[in-house]
Amino acid sequence: MPLLQLQQLPQLLRFTAPALALACSTAFAQAAQTDEFSRCLADLKPAALAAGVRGDTYDRHTQGLAADLTVIDKLNVQPEFKTPVWDYLAGLVDDERVEQGRALLTRHAAVLAQVQQRYGVDPETVVAVWGVESNFGQTFGKYPLVQALGTLSCLGRRQGYFRGELFATLRILQAGHIAPERLVGSWAGAFGHTQFMPSTFERLAVDFDGDGKRDLMDSVPDALASTANFLAKAGWQGDRMWGWEVRLPAGFSVAGQGRKNRQPLTAWTAAGLRLADGSPLPAGAETAGLVTLAGATGPAFLVTRNFDALYSYNAAESYGLAIAHLSDRLRGGGPFATPWPTDDAGLSRAERREVQTLLSARGHDIGEVDGMLGDRSKTAVRAEQTRLGHEVNGRAGQRLLRALRAEAPAAPQPVTPSSSSDPAPRS
Ligand code: CA
Repeated sequence: MPLLQLQQLPQLLRFTAPALALACSTAFAQAAQTDEFSRCLADLKPAALAAGVRGDTYDRHTQGLAADLTVIDKLNVQPEFKTPVWDYLAGLVDDERVEQGRALLTRHAAVLAQVQQRYGVDPETVVAVWGVESNFGQTFGKYPLVQALGTLSCLGRRQGYFRGELFATLRILQAGHIAPERLVGSWAGAFGHTQFMPSTFERLAVDFDGDGKRDLMDSVPDALASTANFLAKAGWQGDRMWGWEVRLPAGFSVAGQGRKNRQPLTAWTAAGLRLADGSPLPAGAETAGLVTLAGATGPAFLVTRNFDALYSYNAAESYGLAIAHLSDRLRGGGPFATPWPTDDAGLSRAERREVQTLLSARGHDIGEVDGMLGDRSKTAVRAEQTRLGHEVNGRAGQRLLRALRAEAPAAPQPVTPSSSSDPAPRS
């Protein structure tokens, strides 16, 4: 290795000096941020005490806490494009989730019957919320709640809101409902089977198994009853449907229609609406509003006040529809009668995993095959869309799946020994 020529030194410095400076300034910035975070948590203590958190509780859970800046990144993320409603629903209401939900309806039949008796919410609706919120308790989120909410209380937007949730979290820990090491959730602080925010937990979580703790992490009865309690408090009526998929008469204008614009079913019948299978709307005094999430040519729904209760769980109509549709599928119903207005329908989770496997087989590093289609999968999708001459948007739908399937090599051939010697016996 020759010694470094003197004349190369300035050139080398030109590259290393800024890098060194950057490394130093990053380190300084991080140290400053750590100080700022510790100071902020210390400054919040009086407000926490005023909100019912004991001093020893506050100190135990906040002293030495490091900020998790990834939650600030999540807070600031701007989705590059809005997920089409057909992608959203294809992933949330697929055959896998229906199958699992039906098995859980059977397994928890006794407690679900008790929950229905107490809160007036039917088993299929409760289990549908469970399936959409946490995939029946299989997806809780991985963020320690105090750390995530502490960070959001001191850095980034909406600090006032997150401080209220931080104090609620500390009160939950103080009351001993959930062990600190079990309390993990989404980056924004939703946790457990029902993905309640801490303040929602305090208002609506119930102890249904009678052990004295309201435990939404490890008690399925507590979680199912808390979900039903949420819906009951949001106005759910046990003698009312959420709504129906309907067929609109030709040329019907959906302008000005909506969830809150309710009319009696008799008026909708008079306007020419029918159930999706062509049969008449139910009789009776029920009122309902017309919801279309993709214009007049897509699926259309008449929704009752019960739909508003589903809506209030997450403040999105597409979310309410996912719960409603999953509950119908759990009752034995089929897919929507009217297709979504797209020539490139969405993918189930099994199909998303297949896309990831096919991308991986083409040499893309997509990480774990988990059906989630995160950033690395989207980068790979864009590369393949470019190569295939498809529209390049990072979205995987049926079109991309078909194209990748068509190119995938046939089923792997059995491995044959390269030498002519006898194959080793298999044990
Ligand atoms: Ca309990």
